[in-house]
Amino acid sequence: MAHVITVRPALDSGRGASFVLDDRIAAGDYTLHSDTARATGPLRYRLQVTHVGDGVLVAGTARVTVVGECSRCAESFQADITASINELYTRDPIDDPDDPLDLYDAVIDSEGNIDIEPMLVGELRLNIPVAPLCQPDCAGVCPGCGANLNRDDCACAADAIDPNHPFAALADLIKD
Ligand SMILES: [Zn+2]
Ligand SMILES: [Zn+2]
Repeated sequence: MAHVITVRPALDSGRGASFVLDDRIAAGDYTLHSDTARATGPLRYRLQVTHVGDGVLVAGTARVTVVGECSRCAESFQADITASINELYTRDPIDDPDDPLDLYDAVIDSEGNIDIEPMLVGELRLNIPVAPLCQPDCAGVCPGCGANLNRDDCACAADAIDPNHPFAALADLIKD
């Protein structure tokens, strides 16, 4: 979906003219998901649009809340994702089909409009972790009993041999 804004307030003035956009894209008007998380709620942005001669520089930040599944314990979690935005829009952008980072057309149309939705979504997606965690020190699940170690006690710990136990060395001998 598109989110079109006019950049004429900057374009129609001299080089260096700028204005600030502080707005949002409503939840239903964009789609953002990765393999590990998807956005929920509005996409918020604060951008400065500056006339830089060849076009306009769109710079600032974009922010969204995502829900996903923790890569360690598989519990669902919620996190804020922020992206730094720094994109040049021109009337005649150079389209490089070989550039994997050239994900969207940063073009100013004949009316002086730009569509910032693909750019904001693309930049935010790059900031979603490939292996997200519910918390930085997530303890994960026990491979033995499957207990979520963030909140439950491991049920198999009682059966494990304490390495400091007097007979621990004996157990090693038996294994050999
Ligand atoms: Zn976790
Ligand atoms: Zn266990």
